[in-house]
Formats: sequence, C-alpha cells, structure tokens
Amino acid sequence: MTRTWEAAEPDAQVAERLARIIELLPAGAVHVRAGVLSMNAAMESVTGYARAELPTLEAWFEKLYSDSSGKLLARYLDQRAQGFPATVEGSIRRKDGEVRRIEFRACNDSVGEIWVANDITERDAMERELVAAKERAEAGARSKAEFLANMSHELRTPLTAIIGFAELLAREGALGSQERRWLGRIEDASKALHSIVNDVLDFSKLEEGAVELESAPFGLRKLVSDTAALLADQAQRKGIGLEIIIDDGLNDGRTADAGRLRQILLNLISNAVKFTNHGQVTIRVSEDLGPRGEPLCRFAISDTGIGIPAAALDQVFQRFVQADGSISREFGGTGLGLAICRRLVELMSGKIGVESQIGSGSTFWFSVVLAHATDVDQVVQEGLAIDAGPVRLLLVEDAEANQELVCTILRSVGVEVDVVSNGAEAVEAVQISAYDLVLMDVQMPVMGGVQATRIIRSLGGEFANLPIIALSANVLPAQVADYHRAGMDAHLAKPINPREMLATVSYWAADEREPSPAALTQRS
Ligand code: ADP
Repeated sequence: MTRTWEAAEPDAQVAERLARIIELLPAGAVHVRAGVLSMNAAMESVTGYARAELPTLEAWFEKLYSDSSGKLLARYLDQRAQGFPATVEGSIRRKDGEVRRIEFRACNDSVGEIWVANDITERDAMERELVAAKERAEAGARSKAEFLANMSHELRTPLTAIIGFAELLAREGALGSQERRWLGRIEDASKALHSIVNDVLDFSKLEEGAVELESAPFGLRKLVSDTAALLADQAQRKGIGLEIIIDDGLNDGRTADAGRLRQILLNLISNAVKFTNHGQVTIRVSEDLGPRGEPLCRFAISDTGIGIPAAALDQVFQRFVQADGSISREFGGTGLGLAICRRLVELMSGKIGVESQIGSGSTFWFSVVLAHATDVDQVVQEGLAIDAGPVRLLLVEDAEANQELVCTILRSVGVEVDVVSNGAEAVEAVQISAYDLVLMDVQMPVMGGVQATRIIRSLGGEFANLPIIALSANVLPAQVADYHRAGMDAHLAKPINPREMLATVSYWAADEREPSPAALTQRS
C-alpha cells in the first residue's frame, strides 16, 4: 500500500523534545508524524492501552475504533490534507470495552500534529441530564398552569350563579334586616372569591405565555382618571386623598393594550388605598425618551401607608407572597396582584419596581413604551412611500381596528391589500391568488398565525419562498424565535409604526432583496 505521509522521518531531536513536553501535560496528548504515534502517560489512562500497543495510526484506528479496513484512516488522511477542524468530538472504545466520549483538540505544523484529548463522557451525560431536567420542569410547569386554568374555569361557573342569584335576592323587598346582612356577606365573599379566581386564571395564562397584548388607540389621561375613579369611593370612606398628577406636555393619544394597562394601574392603586389609613395616594404620570428615542411612560403610585419591610421588598412581586404573615389576616388578598403586574409589564417590555419605608409609605412605579397613536397622518406628513413597484399583499388579522389601520396606511401608498381574519382563511387565500407577501397576525380565532405559516410552508413550491411577516405585540426573544421556527421571515411589532411597516413591506416585496432591509424612501 502506498501512503502519502507528508514528511519524511521525524527529526529525532524534535520528536524527543515534544515527547518530553507532552509527557508533562495533565490531559491525554498524542504526537503524530509520518504515521508514527507517540502518546503521553495520561493518554494511557484515557484509552486503557499502553503506549507500545498503539504505535501507529493503523493501530490507533483499529483498536480504538474497531476499524481494520483502513476506512477511518483514509478519511483522516483526507481531512488532514484539507486542514483539520481545531476541535473534534467522537467516541472511542477503551481497552476494557467501555465506550467513552472524547474531545480532541488538534494543532498541525511542520513538526507533525499534536492532539490533546479530554474525556468528556461525564460532562456530556451531565449536559443531557440538565436538558432532560429542564424539559421535565417545563412540562411540570405547563401541566400545573393548565390545571390552574381548568380549575379556575370550573370555579367561575358556579360562582357566577351565586353572585347572580344573591343580586336577584337582594332586590326582593320582603327581606328582614338579619337576612339582608347575611346576603351582604354572601355578596362580599363571592365577589372576593370571584376576583381571586380571576387572578389565578390570569396568572396561569401569563405563566403559559397565552396572553397576547391587544393594540388600539386610546386617551391616556382618561384611562388614568377612569381607573382612579373606581377607587375614589373606597378612598373617601377611609378618609384618604386620591390625586392624579400628569405632566403638562404629555401626549395623550396612545396605541397599546389599554385594558392591560388599566389592570396594572388598578392593582397598584387599589393596593395603595388598601394599605393606607391616613394621608393620601398620588398617581404621577410622566414621559421620557427611551434609549432609542421611544416614548417611555412612567407611572408612579405613591402612598402614605404602612410601608413594606426592607427584607420583603425584593419578594413582593413573586406570586403568593405577602410582606408578612399578618397581612392576609388584616387586609385579605392572595399575593397574586403584583405578580400579575410584573408579568404584564414584562410582556410590554417594561420595568416595574418599588421603593418603600416602613411606617411612611410606598411608591410602586412602572415604565412602559406607549407608542403615540399613529395614523395615516404620519404617512402623509412624512411623505412615506414604498420602493418595490406594484405590491399585492394579504393581511391576516382578526381585529377590525387593526385591519382598518393597516389597510388605510398601505392603500394610501398604492399597495393592493386583501384581508382575511384567521389562519385557515389565509391558507386558502394564498392558494387562490398570487401575493407578494403576507402580513400575519399571530393569535387569531380558528387558526393562529404560527400554525397557518407551517401549513403554507408545507405546501412547498412557490409557498416555500412567499415572504410571511409576523404581526404581533408579543416580541419577546422566545416568541420571535417561535415565529422564525414556524417559517416566518420577519416580524413587525404592534403597535404598528407606519414607517417601519412600509420599510418592511418594501424590503420583502422587492424582487431582488439586499441582504439587509432596504432603506425607506422619502417622497420629495
Ligand atoms: P395582595 O394585595 O393580594 O396580598 P399583591 O401581590 O398585590 O397581593 O401584594 C403583595 C404584598 O405586597 C401585599 O400582601 C403587601 O404585603 C405588599 N404590598 C403591596 N402593595 C403595598 C402597598 N402599597 N403598601 C404596603 N404593602 C404593599
């Protein structure tokens, strides 16, 4: 057999020096030159063979890889000629028959090749065990969240009957004062239970990632004052003031999930009123620019109430945590309100926190980006246009307000838009008409955007390359990764920014795409 060893006999002196150096290495190491292999003592422990038993590359592959045909040796020589990857992982069979996982790091120069070998069998096993444990934990969390969600649904049905019939009974004129008092107790208790069940359901949905933010225009001042008004009676009964201070210059028109914003505010203001017996609760709203120039709104709810011990400050945002054991006896509650607030603020990519001094009061604050209500005016004022020739686009979106907004903006720049309102309709529509791209909402009734995308991609042919852009308020990295895995090409965040939407449409509708999104053109 002829071999193409690249060099002649090793220089005996160099080989000897190398042998002395690698002998000192704590890891297994091998020097290979011209098919001759010399290994250090640590390598004897890695392989279980004495050095004399592995004198050549043939012996190495035969003994450790059971390859007597020379196939592996040929592959190795091939790779060697093309340049080795620096790190290679593989399994070897030790002399005692045990299979071990080894990571080889190789360096190759004129004196031959040095391989340093690390036995990574245990590390690999540990990694696999960690991944399995993580999967088990996630599955456990999922089934717990599903259980909670089912349970809360089941509890709500009889509760609705209790509350409804208690209300009917209360309208009866013939009740005695004792009965009326008892009825009042039933009403209070069932309403409290109802709100706990709602909290549990909400929290489990948030834990599951099943909450999708809506996005619609609203007035910020009205939202804050309407929310505070819900607590005005309670504050008045306790003799505490309730004040709203909103920055003068604050832009009132916003586009976001007003319902969820109200829920956070209501939770924080009702806590402030609940835990304050003298003085007042102040709600402050201000606006700043975020690091990328985005409109960052800060809400701060300050009270002059009981305060929170320093040791409990870090924990109050965790589920079922109350500042101390007496809270539940004295004030009721479950410790879910702040956990829900935190999840919601995080879903909005915002921040939440608290400062508090025991005995003098607390300030709960959160800051979220609340886009200025955008409308077609921006497109007209800025003279935005698209740069992709005639474009035919399919909009898949169930919310009417969003359908109207997207259509108006896109049609105003000449894009031809068809609208369907769920994923199943989208799958049909793309097979009937030829579109340049699809804007796909993620959570929709009947069929969501992720599933629709998977089905469209599975149709193959031209559908493999049809640009599909996710349209969603949920743009956490894990959610965006989900969209990409399903086959979506890009995503647009809600609330919709017309400038960004037109840039994305231009880019994905263009016949030839630059590697990075093309700049938006300005009409002069
Ligand atoms: P709940 O109010 O149902 O107990 P939360 O999650 O809303 O649950 O609050 C958790 C805990 O944080 C409360 O039990 C209370 O100990 C503390 N806390 C919340 N808001 C305030 C406040 N404004 N002043 C003092 N303590 C508060």
